Amino acid sequence: MKRSVFVLLPVLVLTPAAIAQRLPGGAVPDHYSLTFTIQFATNSFEGDETIDLRITKPASSVTLNALEIDFHQVTITSGGRTQTAKISLDNKREMATFTVDQALPEGPAGIHITYTGHLNDKLRGLYLSSYNNRKYAVSQMQATDARVAFPCFDEPAYKATYDITAIVDRGDIAISNNEVISDKPGPGEMHTIRFATSPKMSSYLVALTVGDWKCLHDSVGGIKLGICMVPGKEDLGHFAMEASKAILHYYDAYYGIKYPLSKLDQIAVPDKSGAMENWGAIIYGEDSLLIDDKTASLVAKKDVANNIAHEVAHQWFGDLVTMEWWDDLWLNEGFATWMSPHPLEEWQPDWLVKQDVVYGNQRALARDAVQNTRPIHQQVETRNEIGSVFDNIAYGKTGAVLTMLETYLGREAFRAGVNAYLKEHAYGSATATDFWKALARTSHKPVDQIMPTFVLQPGEPFLRATTQCHEGSSQIRVTQKRYFDTPELFEKSDSQKWQVPICIKTLGKANGGASCHLLTEREQSLNLQECPRYLLLDHGGAGYYRFSYEGARVHSLEPEAVQVLSAEDRIALLGNEWALMLAGVSNIGDYLALGAAFKATPGYLLLNDFFKHLEVVSRNFVTPSDRDAFQSWINQTFGPQLQELGYQGRSTDTAMRKAQRAVLFWGLGVLGREPDVIAEASNLVQSYMKDPDSVDGTLLRAAITIAARNGDDQLYSQYKAQLQKKLTPEAFDLFLYALSDFRSAKLAQQTMDWALTPEVRSQDIYLLDAVAQNADNGEMAWNFIQQHFEEINRKTGGGVGGSGVFLYAEYYFCSAKQRTEVEQFFQQHPDLVTDRERKVTIERIETCSALSERQQPMLTNWLQSKGKHGSGVATNTLAPGGINSFPFAAPW
Ligand SMILES: [Zn+2]
Repeated sequence: MKRSVFVLLPVLVLTPAAIAQRLPGGAVPDHYSLTFTIQFATNSFEGDETIDLRITKPASSVTLNALEIDFHQVTITSGGRTQTAKISLDNKREMATFTVDQALPEGPAGIHITYTGHLNDKLRGLYLSSYNNRKYAVSQMQATDARVAFPCFDEPAYKATYDITAIVDRGDIAISNNEVISDKPGPGEMHTIRFATSPKMSSYLVALTVGDWKCLHDSVGGIKLGICMVPGKEDLGHFAMEASKAILHYYDAYYGIKYPLSKLDQIAVPDKSGAMENWGAIIYGEDSLLIDDKTASLVAKKDVANNIAHEVAHQWFGDLVTMEWWDDLWLNEGFATWMSPHPLEEWQPDWLVKQDVVYGNQRALARDAVQNTRPIHQQVETRNEIGSVFDNIAYGKTGAVLTMLETYLGREAFRAGVNAYLKEHAYGSATATDFWKALARTSHKPVDQIMPTFVLQPGEPFLRATTQCHEGSSQIRVTQKRYFDTPELFEKSDSQKWQVPICIKTLGKANGGASCHLLTEREQSLNLQECPRYLLLDHGGAGYYRFSYEGARVHSLEPEAVQVLSAEDRIALLGNEWALMLAGVSNIGDYLALGAAFKATPGYLLLNDFFKHLEVVSRNFVTPSDRDAFQSWINQTFGPQLQELGYQGRSTDTAMRKAQRAVLFWGLGVLGREPDVIAEASNLVQSYMKDPDSVDGTLLRAAITIAARNGDDQLYSQYKAQLQKKLTPEAFDLFLYALSDFRSAKLAQQTMDWALTPEVRSQDIYLLDAVAQNADNGEMAWNFIQQHFEEINRKTGGGVGGSGVFLYAEYYFCSAKQRTEVEQFFQQHPDLVTDRERKVTIERIETCSALSERQQPMLTNWLQSKGKHGSGVATNTLAPGGINSFPFAAPW
C-alpha cells in the first residue's frame, strides 16, 4: 500500500472501540468461490460464496471474520452431510460463528454462504466511488476489510486460491486479480464475468472494480498490461504504461522468479487516497497514476513512477511472499520502499534518484528521533493498532535500513539473499527471522546479528568519532549511543547498542577513498592506512545513523573538500547538521552556513530540503524584528543563482535545470518574499490560465503557491474556477490545495467551510490541515477543526483522513499553549489515535517549542553578524587540529 503524496502520516481507518482479534483456528481455508452481483440502484451487492476448507480440530462450529454483512443462509457440508448453520455475530471482534448440530469431523469441508453487502462510502471493503454522476464499485481490503466484502479468514497467513465472478450491468466491465475466462449475457439485463483462479494469496489482496472503465493495453515480456481509468482520461495513462513496462522488465530480471500472473492491470479510481498492491490488479487514486506526460512537473512524474515501482515490487514482496502477521508489516512496506528507486535509476538516469533515496533516509531518521518512536517490529492486535503501523517507520525507516544493508553487503550479495528468501517462501508467509537468516546464509555476513538491533529496538544510533594519526596510519575511535532530537534526552541517552555497518570516505593522499566496516561494540577502533585531511563517516549518505566528531570543529569548508563530496554526501551532511542543531550540539547559524555552502549542489533535492527546514525556521524562529534580515540573507544568498538560471524556462532546459529553477523560485518567493519573483509567479499563473501549455509544469507548482500567498479575493475566485475545468489530477491538486495558501482570514474561512461540503471529496479533507499550516490562519483553522470534529468524522465516514487531520497538529504547533490544547483535545477523544501516536504528537510540539526558544536568540545573533560580514557562505578557513594530529572537519 502507498499513501498519497500529501499524506506523511498513516491514515487510520477509524472505528472507535472496534477490535480485530485473532481467529481461534481449527479451520484452514484452501479455496474461495465468490460471486458478487453489483446493484448500483441500491448501493449494495449480493454475495454467493463457497469456502473449501479443512477442519483441523473436530468442532461443531467455525469462526471467521465478517463485518457489515447481512447473512441470508449458511450451510456447512462435511463428511457427506450438509447442515444449515446457526449464525452468531460478534461485531466487536468482527467475527461470525457458524454452529451446526452435528459436530464437524477433521478433514475437508465446504461452507456455502449467501448474503447482502453494502457499497459503502467509507473507502473500505467493496465501496462506492463516483464520477460524472455515475457510480463505480471499488475494492480496498488491506488491512482488515476483506471481511466487509465477504466473510473470510481475514488474516494474512490464511492463504487460499480465489475463483471470482462478477455479475454487472450490461454496459459495465469488471477487473479482478486474474484474467477474464468467460463473459456471458444474463441474468436479465446483466452479464456474468468469470475470472481465472487466482494464485494462492492472502484475503487482503482480493481485488474487484466495476464500472465503465476504459483501458490502454500493451505488454512486456509476455505479460499483458492494462492501465484503466474513467472514460475521457485515457490520454493521462500513457506515462504510467511506459513506466510500468520499464519497471516490470527490471523486476523480471532482478527477481529469481518471474512475475507469476499472465496480466497486470492498474486502475485509477476517482475516490481513493494512495494505492493498493492487489495481485494482478493494482488500484490507485487518480493523482497517483494519471499524468499528462507533456505538461506534468518532474515531481509529479517521479511520484507516479515511484508509486508504480512501489506497488509492482509488492507483487513479489507482499503478494508472493507475505508477512505472517501485521507485526512484520515492514517486510512488505520497507521492501517496496527500498526497491522502488532501483528500476527508476535504470529507466531514468537523469532523475538522479539516488538523491531521493538519501533524502528519504534523512526524513526517516528525523521521524525516528523522538522518545516515543516505535521499533520496526511492532506487536499489533486491534484494528487501530494494525492501521497505525502503516507509518514512516514501516516505510521510510525500513527502506533506509535496507539501503544501508545493501550498501554494506554489496548489490549482488543482497540480491542473492532476497531471491533465496523469495524462493523459500513463495506462495506462503514468512517472518523477519526468515528474512535475515536467508541473507546471512547467502552473504556469509552477520546479517542476523545486525538486523535485530535495528528491527527490534526503537530509535537510531549516534556515532561520535575521534581520530589519531601515527606514522602515516590513523586510528578512528567510534562510540555509539542513541540519538534524540532534544538536548535533554540526548545528553542522558546511554543504554542502547547497535551493530552498525558504516562506510567511511576520506580525503587524503588517496583523494576520496572509501571503506566499509561493522561496528559491533559501544566503543570500537577502526584503522586506516593513511592520515586523511578530511573524514566523512557516512559515505554516500546510506547510513542509518547520526554522527559527529570530537575535537576540532569547523563549519566552513574548503572548496576542495566541498568538491570531493557527492550530492548524496552533502544531502546527508546537511540533514545531519540539522539533527546536531536539534540535539544542542550545534546551532542554527552552523546549519544556515552549511546549506549556503552547498547551494550549487547538482540536482534540486538538497536545496529543496534546505528550504523546507528554512520554512520551519521562518515560522518558528524568526522574530518580527529579524524578518527583514532573514529575507535579505535568503535573497542575497540565492538570488544570483536564480538570476543565472533565468525566471522563465527555455526549451533547451533539462528536467533537472527546470527543477532547480522551481526550487529557487519557491525559496525566494515564499521565504525571501522577493518582489520580482512574486510578480513573475503571478504572471505565470495568469499565462497558465490562458494557455496551460505555455508554462513549464515544474515551475508552475511553485508559481501557484507563491501567487496564492500574495493573492487577493479575485485570484482566489480564479483558482476556484479552475477546479471546475477539465484539469489533470496534478493541476487539480495544485489549485485545490493552493486555496489554503491565501493569507486572508476571510478566504481561509471560506476554504474550510467549503471543505466540509459534498463538493470536496473525502480524500481531500487534508485541505483543513493545509489551512492550519498557513502561519497566518493556523490558530483559526485549529479552532475550526475542533469545532467541526463531528462533521469531519461524518464526511470521512470514520475512514480516510478523519484522524490524520488531528495528527498533523505536530506539523504546525510550536507553543506550550497549543500543546495543552492538543492534549485536551486528545483527552476528549481518546479513541481517535493510538496512545503512542498521541504521545508522539505531544512530544513533537514540546520539542518545537523548546527549540524555538533556544534558537531564536542565536538566529538573531547570526543574522546580525551576516549583516556585517556578508552572506555566510563558506570561506577558506580551517579549524586548528585540536587534540587530533590532523585537521578534522565536522560536519565535514
Ligand atoms: Zn506498499
